[in-house]
Amino acid sequence: MPKNRFQALAESRHRDHKSINESGRRSDLFGKYVFNEEKMLQFLTSEAFDKVKSAIFQGTKIDRKIADQVAEGMKAWALSMGATHYTHWFQPLTGATAEKHDAFFDILPNGKAMEKFGGAQLVQQEPDASSFPSGGIRNTFEARGYTAWDPTSPAFIYKTTLCIPTIFVAYTGEALDNKAPLLRALHAVDQAATAVAQYFDKNVRKVHATLGWEQEYFLVDKSLVNSRLDLSVTGRTLVGSFSAKGQQLDDHYFGVIPPRVLAFMIELEKECTQLGIPVKTRHNEVAPNQFELAPVFEEANLSVDHNLLLMDVMEEIADRHNFAVLFHEKPFAGINGSGKHNNWSLATDTGVNLLSPGSTPMKNLQFLTFFVNTIKAVDSYEELLRASIASASNDHRLGANEAPPPIISIFIGGQLNDVLDELEGVSKGKLSPEEKTELKLNVVGKIPEILLDNTDRNRTSPFAFTGNKFEMRGVGAKMNCAKPMTMLNTIMAKQLTDFKKEVDILIDKKKLKKDEAVFNVLREYIKTSKRIRFEGDGYGIEWQEEARRRKLSYNKNTPEALQVITSKESVALFKEMDVMSEVELKAHQEVELGAYIFHIQIEGRILGEMVYNHIIPAAIKYQNLLLENIQGLKDVYGAAHKKVAESQLNILEQVGEHIYEIKKLSDEMADARKRANGMQLSNKKAQAYCNNVKPYFDKIREHSDALEKLIADEFWPFTKYREILFSK
Ligand code: ADP
Ligand code: MG
Repeated sequence: MPKNRFQALAESRHRDHKSINESGRRSDLFGKYVFNEEKMLQFLTSEAFDKVKSAIFQGTKIDRKIADQVAEGMKAWALSMGATHYTHWFQPLTGATAEKHDAFFDILPNGKAMEKFGGAQLVQQEPDASSFPSGGIRNTFEARGYTAWDPTSPAFIYKTTLCIPTIFVAYTGEALDNKAPLLRALHAVDQAATAVAQYFDKNVRKVHATLGWEQEYFLVDKSLVNSRLDLSVTGRTLVGSFSAKGQQLDDHYFGVIPPRVLAFMIELEKECTQLGIPVKTRHNEVAPNQFELAPVFEEANLSVDHNLLLMDVMEEIADRHNFAVLFHEKPFAGINGSGKHNNWSLATDTGVNLLSPGSTPMKNLQFLTFFVNTIKAVDSYEELLRASIASASNDHRLGANEAPPPIISIFIGGQLNDVLDELEGVSKGKLSPEEKTELKLNVVGKIPEILLDNTDRNRTSPFAFTGNKFEMRGVGAKMNCAKPMTMLNTIMAKQLTDFKKEVDILIDKKKLKKDEAVFNVLREYIKTSKRIRFEGDGYGIEWQEEARRRKLSYNKNTPEALQVITSKESVALFKEMDVMSEVELKAHQEVELGAYIFHIQIEGRILGEMVYNHIIPAAIKYQNLLLENIQGLKDVYGAAHKKVAESQLNILEQVGEHIYEIKKLSDEMADARKRANGMQLSNKKAQAYCNNVKPYFDKIREHSDALEKLIADEFWPFTKYREILFSK
């Protein structure tokens, strides 16, 4: 019997697997399932190839004729690789990725079958998208949105489907996804940064933002996860007494990776390699069963796509190994949760990292320009940056002494602080030749090229300079990096645009030399953005007070943090940078608030179910056992039983009290939920969930955890922390 494509594909993947084990060379497999430049050269006409390249580089449009040619080439490649379906792969505001598969297979009017895929199918699709969140942009009458091809992120084959990265927009043009705003932000920062980079090198034509994320996650036996209602539905444990052994011994961090986990990692890395995701490092993290994976950095849009794809692939491969991956920011109380550091920089098409100190004063002036502008941008829009990492699950981490606080500040290290202090002393206006020499030789010229290992790693800072890039440390493990990246690149675009204007005025009107003008503006920025620089302990209570004095925003929870998105200043900023309209900002805010409400609502419901249907019945069972025992002792000892049964009576009393309290609190929580549900405005509702419903979670948990400690192990209805975290 002839093999079908799927069998052939499976076999070839099997062969790959063997070969990787034999040769161990991942570079041979890199990008095997990606329609990258090499495949384009092979499968596209040279005209189509050039057009795609210029679409990637200059953002030029691809017309229908070329789209047809590209589709033809993509199809030929995909079929040769055994693909049977194609899909527009997009990022709705739910935070996950979405896809709807269509077969290449089609029947012609004459009844003949063939594989069909043309420019029309490549460029645009209409998913039946009425149930994706839109924050009110599409009411049910105009429920349609469409997905449109993003040629800057290459198509790839996952399993037997050709996946085409796309944006998702309403018919009226508003973004219904996270990718469209990101692409606009990246375009804005490209334009602004290119103009500034040209002060230093006329040959620069393009600047792209780079992103290297570090993905933390837990890997837990699948059946154990499924055994717990809370973990399997909400991604985190809502109750659970701490395990006697947690992370206090620090014996997991960078320890030997357990064999079963290693088998998962090897398969994952191979799959990633073939999908063109350049994963590079893997290691154990601080908490038991916690790990981290990081790639080589890439252009930000591609890197965002790769992170989303990675998360999908991880879930699938984990499943094959009978694991479940937990991306939730705080799956277990008492041990660290997971984050996703976003390492960010700007790079030119001439191969220069604009945030990397160089070997000459000129290069360092360029470095300082981008460095100081980043500081200024973050200072001006710190609250927006905070908003971009707000979510119900990330609220558990920010400020909980394992991740930076929800107060944004920048850490740059002692050496660079000294440099900025010296620059601040530069005199206003024209510089004397001596001043210039002094500045160039002794200040700018002295920035060591390799700061990398010198930059003190202050882990408590939410935004740290780490030698040749900034690292955003408050991003949650589950999050789509598109959100913080859209924000960061938008504020950077705005800042660089303003900078250019100010410098040009000094050059044109005040007749300053370019470097003088640059120094002058930077000096002002250094002065005015001082409050954002903080080198101390971000976890300390003193910092909260200090931050208040500095008038930095301190938005502790998601409903508070999201407010700023639609402030007058934010609307003006996003409009000026052409990244999001007011309607889009409102819609995105509405979706985020809605997601917050749903998360807390679901957690509340699940917690209620656990209390009424599991915890109280288990406690009653144990109560009965105690009663039976006490009754028996009474029968034997008569009045003297009180002494013999003293401990039992005491436990009985405690169990009774906890049952009473946990029931009462759960009833109150249900009432609070009802009241919150009655509210119309998302804003008010989210606040009600945050301030009136959520506080019950911890109170209820306290009684549950106490009961867990009291009740016979055989009666406790949930898998315990110890079992989840330490079973091999
Ligand atoms: P750590 O875990 O100590 O923060 P790692 O070396 O594990 O540091 O991670 C560094 C991350 O920074 C990697 O994901 C890497 O790709 C990324 N990175 C390095 N240089 C850049 C850059 N110029 N732009 C963006 N990301 C970068
Ligand atoms: Mg890091």
